[in-house]
Amino acid sequence: MAVTAIADWLETGVGASDPTRTRIASLGNAAAIDQETAIADRSSDLSESAPVVEDDGESPTGVFSVALVTKLNLWWKETTCLVLAEEAGRLGISDGTLRAATEMVDRSCNSSMVRIAKQYDLELQDLHARLVDLASHDQLTGLANRAVFLARLEAAISRIDRHLGGLAVVFIDLDDFKAVNDAFGHRSGDELLTILGERFTDLMRPEDTIARFGGDEFVALFEDLTDPANEAEVLAGRLHQAIAEPIVIAGEPLYMTASVGVVVVTGVEFRSEDVLAQADMTMYGVKRAGRNRVAVVELGNEMHPAAFAMASELHRALERRELTLAYQPVFAVQAGGLVGFEALCRWTHAERGAIPPLDFIPVAEESGLMPAIGAWVLEEACRQSAAWGELLGDGLSMAVNVSGRQLADPEFPSLVLHALTATGLPAKVLILEMTESILLGEHANYESVLRELKDLGVRLAIDDFGTGYSSLAYLRRFPVDQLKVDRGFVQDVAEHGDTRIMGAVIRLAHDLGLEVVAEGVETEAEQSIVQKLGCDSMQGFLLGYPLSPTLIEQTFAKGDLPAARRVAPHGR
Ligand code: C2E
Ligand code: MG
Ligand code: MG
Repeated sequence: MAVTAIADWLETGVGASDPTRTRIASLGNAAAIDQETAIADRSSDLSESAPVVEDDGESPTGVFSVALVTKLNLWWKETTCLVLAEEAGRLGISDGTLRAATEMVDRSCNSSMVRIAKQYDLELQDLHARLVDLASHDQLTGLANRAVFLARLEAAISRIDRHLGGLAVVFIDLDDFKAVNDAFGHRSGDELLTILGERFTDLMRPEDTIARFGGDEFVALFEDLTDPANEAEVLAGRLHQAIAEPIVIAGEPLYMTASVGVVVVTGVEFRSEDVLAQADMTMYGVKRAGRNRVAVVELGNEMHPAAFAMASELHRALERRELTLAYQPVFAVQAGGLVGFEALCRWTHAERGAIPPLDFIPVAEESGLMPAIGAWVLEEACRQSAAWGELLGDGLSMAVNVSGRQLADPEFPSLVLHALTATGLPAKVLILEMTESILLGEHANYESVLRELKDLGVRLAIDDFGTGYSSLAYLRRFPVDQLKVDRGFVQDVAEHGDTRIMGAVIRLAHDLGLEVVAEGVETEAEQSIVQKLGCDSMQGFLLGYPLSPTLIEQTFAKGDLPAARRVAPHGR
């Protein structure tokens, strides 16, 4: 029918009528679909696995592969030319007219194929763009994803010029996001994440990056900070504040908080994955130490790669509950009985065995894990002490070591209060130990935090006295209750026999109303000096090693307490 129409048109110059054209088109469509299976079968040598028709349920003609469309087109061209030749013979049309008609069919088919190829290219480009978007963006919020973030962070680290400043990575994890999903459904949760994504984007400069790592984790990268630590704190504070603004979901305002860990980098020697892990750890530290806060850690040159590795392992150890507490008994010097314990943190590494706290506590401090570890130690020691009340007798104190980072946190007193209320431990039982180097440190301004702690009813002790400034003048400034005289001091007196300084220290401490505890009593000679100089209580390997809770219970239960019992050195 089409060929006849073309021949008529060539001969008379009059084209086919509209109804005829419509009919030709619909017959053509139907024929194409009928033919397509047959063609595909015949030409399976060229397109073995090409999908012939994928009925997507929407388009009636389905999706044709380019190879198939090209084949159909060529087939149609060949057939049309064949039919044209036959018809020309039948109608007695001249060779010249037939050639013109054949050329026209040829050109029309060729330009169709070019058009199809162009369309195919366009769709391919579009598909590629969508794939790139899918691979680099979070589909819910449209923010960058982890892969893109890491690539940008790596590039940004390599560009750092420490003389000009540095960069900051801000790791944000919403507090209690699960509760939103549970209470309002996942759709509301998604909406909340989208709104937060928009808020964050509004706060960022175009050169900054904000990414979502899935779930409720958002991570920001701020580059080119001239005063990195301070700027990072301000920028992270803004993101934190943006979360605190009410978020309206289904007409209801929701109030969210988040734990934020910030890592400031001023050197090119750090790997992007490590920096990110560090930011994650810092955030985790906030999470474990009461949430809803921003904590900043600065990565300088001083953090050795080995310390980095240790920090990651320590993080894991904390999560897997591989840290434990050992308890060293403390005895009254004159009356001789057990008066309490000092909780000491222990880490038994699966391969390396016991790692001393003096090795891992500084790493925890530097890597931002200390608040998390400190919070755990505090709560665990309180729980243990409360549990021992009945078994070992009431009135035994529990001393817990507190690091500088913990004390620097204005939320620390409420964390202590939480540990006491959660475990039911009376405040007066708890002694918080801090070294004089912490109290007198460069940026130390702990008086108000110490006051708040005192107001809770807990006791405060100065640990390792004698190793630092050994200045008693500051004792009046701080509301402390105990002075723990360092083992070195005790040892020195025992070795040189000169008791004047230690004697004076103890007298002055007593005058100031402080109790004096002697640390590290290892020999009978040291014990008798401690007794002679009037220390109130003492601890040391001579009297008892730090022991596991089970060994403590086996040794001290039943109230049958020896004056100063020597305990075998297991559990150290
Ligand atoms: P520290 O608070 O002065 O604890 C006393 C340390 O002296 C403990 O070491 C204890 O095992 C050891 N010691 C006790 N009696 C003797 C003795 O007679 N001779 C000798 N040579 N040593 C004795 P440890 O457990 O290795 O802890 C070392 C330090 O690590 C602690 O010193 C404390 O500053 C810190 N630390 C331990 N646990 C924690 C913790 O949970 N948090 C914080 N912030 N620091 C902790
Ligand atoms: Mg101590
Ligand atoms: Mg000490």
